[in-house]
Amino acid sequence: MIHTSHLPGSQYPNTWYLATSEVGEQRPTLNTEHRAKVCVVGAGLAGLSVALELLRIGIPVAIVEAGRVAWGASGRNGGFVSAGFPVQLEDIIRTCGAEIAERLYEYSVLGVTHVRENIEQLAPHCLMGEGHLSVSRYPAAKKMQREAELVNRQYAGKVEPWTRSELSSALKTRRYFDALYKPNGFHIHPLNYALALATEIESLGGRIFEASPARKLESIDPGNLNYRWRVRTDYGEVKAEYVVICTSGYDQDFYGPISRSVLPVATHVAVTEPLGDDILGLVNTSACVSDTRNACDYFRIVDRRLLWGGKISTLTEPPETLERTMKKAMVEVFPELSDVSIEHSWSGLMGYCSHKMPVIRRQQPGLWVATAFGGQGLNTTAMAGELISTAIVRGDERWQDFDKYMLDWNGGPLGQAAVQSSYWWMQFKDRLRETLAGKRKHPVD
Ligand SMILES: Cc1cc2nc3c(=O)[nH]c(=O)nc-3n(C[C@H](O)[C@H](O)[C@H](O)COP(=O)(O)OP(=O)(O)OC[C@H]3O[C@@H](n4cnc5c(N)ncnc54)[C@H](O)[C@@H]3O)c2cc1C
Repeated sequence: MIHTSHLPGSQYPNTWYLATSEVGEQRPTLNTEHRAKVCVVGAGLAGLSVALELLRIGIPVAIVEAGRVAWGASGRNGGFVSAGFPVQLEDIIRTCGAEIAERLYEYSVLGVTHVRENIEQLAPHCLMGEGHLSVSRYPAAKKMQREAELVNRQYAGKVEPWTRSELSSALKTRRYFDALYKPNGFHIHPLNYALALATEIESLGGRIFEASPARKLESIDPGNLNYRWRVRTDYGEVKAEYVVICTSGYDQDFYGPISRSVLPVATHVAVTEPLGDDILGLVNTSACVSDTRNACDYFRIVDRRLLWGGKISTLTEPPETLERTMKKAMVEVFPELSDVSIEHSWSGLMGYCSHKMPVIRRQQPGLWVATAFGGQGLNTTAMAGELISTAIVRGDERWQDFDKYMLDWNGGPLGQAAVQSSYWWMQFKDRLRETLAGKRKHPVD
């Protein structure tokens, strides 16, 4: 069960994003029998991306959302957009083989391109900076060099290992040793981006019903291809030829295969008060930055403030000490921040399957799922929008490259405990490596 603070509602969580958005009035609740070619369940970036791509090819869509547009992870994430998946490329190659892994990576790049194009066309104000810098808290130059070679040579990616002097002039800290720069990455205001997608969906004739949790999915008449599915909400229903379920870690009981396999994993974000020039100069880059640890921390400058994210846990109750925990992590990297106050802090849930890859599948004729985007959902939800819309409209089979990644049972409470133990183990290994690195001379000494 997820903690009650994560049950979708009519009020957006109190984030810095909310403070810098115009969310508008709540959209109508579904209270009639509505018909559409496609019914999408969940208006996070997965549901919005699927709906938008379908509408762009002229397919009528209705979305039912339990809370509000982008109420879940999509409206409160770190805002980093970058190619790839939550799983390392080497692991994908091991599971799927080199050829399919190459295609999957290309789709992830396509997702980045979609987000960039959407921003250019619909919401240029959402772009907050260019470039993504991946930094290590222990020496990792050789590993990064190998990763760059693999991505650049085999996957037509664009990744640049940075020299240590480039790194130390960009980030004034002794925490980091080596860095990879991804010039195609960028960072955005995710809530405003999602709201812009919703506005475009409505201008193309799509319907979005808020405060309308889907309660029941029924196959009504397999013979009647026009309306073979019914999605029931508390006060209405949508009949549709296709249903696409995009409920992620917030799905408690609507679609059993998702609630049994997608584990909600909590993670947190904090935003400081506006910073003076001296402190702002510590982050001398407009790129967003994340470290390479398994349970990574990440940060970026937004509107003269530092936005800091990190910490993962399968325990979904937001910690009482959230602000203190996030501040401690910031000060570990930039001790100069010790007197800076945190003005906003919040938690969100990411959806993870045990294999940690997205699940993009046709479960039955007319019934699709797009879920489990984990901590890298900005590019991969856009990719899912493209793969599912072209599959529905043109029978495109690219989604089948995700065949190895299914909705496997997550093991229930025991599985949750096992995942939490693996996080603690990963964090212990990361700490150990850092301690060993700390015994060596730092490159800037
Ligand atoms: C704090 C945080 C930081 C992150 N940082 C990044 C980042 O920097 N870069 C990145 O790429 N990714 C990041 N992610 C991950 C990314 O946000 C997610 O992978 C992505 O938003 C998932 O989108 P989604 O639409 O699948 O899920 P969600 O955005 O969670 O949307 C699911 C929606 O389904 C609705 N819903 C649930 N049940 C029902 C129902 N029965 N009926 C109707 N609606 C229902 C929910 O209300 C919700 O709106 C982060 C996530 C978090 C939480």
